[in-house]
Amino acid sequence: MAKLEPVATSSIQTKLLIGGQWVDGLAGATIDVIDPYTGSKIVTVAEAREEDVERAVAAAQAAAPGWAKMAAHERGRLLLKLADRIEADIDYLARLEAQNTGHPVRDCMNLDVPRTVLCFRYFGGMADKLEGSVVPVDAGFLNYVTREPIGVVGQIVPWNFPLMFTSWKLGPALAAGNTVVIKPSEITPLSTLRIGELISEVGFPPGVVNILTGYGDTVGQRIAEHRGIGKVSFTGSTNVGRRIVQASAGNLKKVQLELGGKGPNIIFEDANIPAAVGGSAFAIFHNQGQACIAGSRIIIHESVKDQFLERFVGLAKSIKLGDPLDTDTEMGPLTSKVHHERVLSFIEVAKQQGSEIISGGRTPEGESLSKGYFVEPTILTAKPGDRVFSEEVFGPFVSVTTFKTDEEALALANGVSYGLGAGLWTRDLQRAHRLANAIHAGMVWINCYKRVHPGSPFGGVGESGYGREMGFESMREYTQPKSIWVNVDADIPPFYRR
Ligand code: NAD
Repeated sequence: MAKLEPVATSSIQTKLLIGGQWVDGLAGATIDVIDPYTGSKIVTVAEAREEDVERAVAAAQAAAPGWAKMAAHERGRLLLKLADRIEADIDYLARLEAQNTGHPVRDCMNLDVPRTVLCFRYFGGMADKLEGSVVPVDAGFLNYVTREPIGVVGQIVPWNFPLMFTSWKLGPALAAGNTVVIKPSEITPLSTLRIGELISEVGFPPGVVNILTGYGDTVGQRIAEHRGIGKVSFTGSTNVGRRIVQASAGNLKKVQLELGGKGPNIIFEDANIPAAVGGSAFAIFHNQGQACIAGSRIIIHESVKDQFLERFVGLAKSIKLGDPLDTDTEMGPLTSKVHHERVLSFIEVAKQQGSEIISGGRTPEGESLSKGYFVEPTILTAKPGDRVFSEEVFGPFVSVTTFKTDEEALALANGVSYGLGAGLWTRDLQRAHRLANAIHAGMVWINCYKRVHPGSPFGGVGESGYGREMGFESMREYTQPKSIWVNVDADIPPFYRR
């Protein structure tokens, strides 16, 4: 066991980044940032309000023409420099993220920071590869289509993967030539602020990235409705997603939404059971289940349920809960007190609706865990129609439902309003592809779960939202096509013969 030192609070950036300057909010208000392991305050950050959104949008607007005109490879070079700088900062960033979110530092080191680096590197390389097209139109005309940046984009980040999601949002938006006003969650602003420091350090022009720490119903709402913002990209709950759509209507801005999920994880009778056990545990217990793509519904063939559960419950019970800064910890606390209470409330809901709690279902005991927002890895039965079968719990909380036929498995998988991630475990190639095509989801993993890469489009269908992050798709999302017609040597007969 190695317990890492928390980062020195005096080193943590706590102000707003507007026009390249670190400033207080005009109202002088602040937000306490809480360590979910100890329940105590880490630091106090500036609280932006609506008037600060005005300042940030003005700074982003001022920076937009220069940033859009900069050679694309120069924008790419800055993103590549940022990726290198973040890579060198891994020790600091991983500890900061662990302290603020409760992610085990092991995961921050192995997943959150490397994935953040990979994302900025991918979009750094992508910046000068966004090509237009030439359309074969009528003889004598040249029609070419360019892709232009939108201008100023607003980005709203949730608390579950604040560092990684900051890169998913900034990477493509900046590569495509937009300037940004980004708002991290009021619960987890620290790693986004650190990225802001590194952005300034590697030489991004002032105003290209502006960071506002503040609440959703003030700053978030104002970003969504601001007429100076041409697109808003939001990750968070489906209910807030609906409010974003309404707020965006004023200037009809583009909207991209990455919302909740209730991922089906189907285990067929021919699955490699040990692999399915390991993959299913990662699918739901990684990051304490606080992932929109979590595999929160195990849908399993009745003939393999017992052998699967024997191993799966054993694994769940063996997961080491503890201090996020301890390198041996495999599961930390949930990220906030409010969320902790919400997740625990679902255990009562499940019991009332007749679920059997197979494992977990409590706040764990032990002196070292007593102040943190912990929930045991929880496995329970559920049937369609139960709230725990259809509502996103967003905790280490997985339901188990059995099936007899492939058709039944598919109906169960598609029996919720969400459609984000889905997994299936089988050795039958035809069944795997047939089901992958039929599942109502934006992403399907076959014999694996929760794989992500900046090259592969990420997003959902149904009430999981629309639009895609990552990959070439996201470069399209952050640009708009312009069709330009040239009369090269067309013979255009007069339309009015006078
Ligand atoms: P949330 O949707 O309230 O917050 C996400 C972000 O939106 C935060 O930055 C928040 O400040 C901002 N926000 C809140 N209200 C806003 C508004 N009116 N206008 C603009 N921005 C606003 O999510 P939450 O309360 O933190 O979590 C609640 C539930 O949402 C979770 O239990 C989970 O089910 C879901 N969730 C999903 C994801 C995801 O990755 N898809 C992430 C976080 C939460």
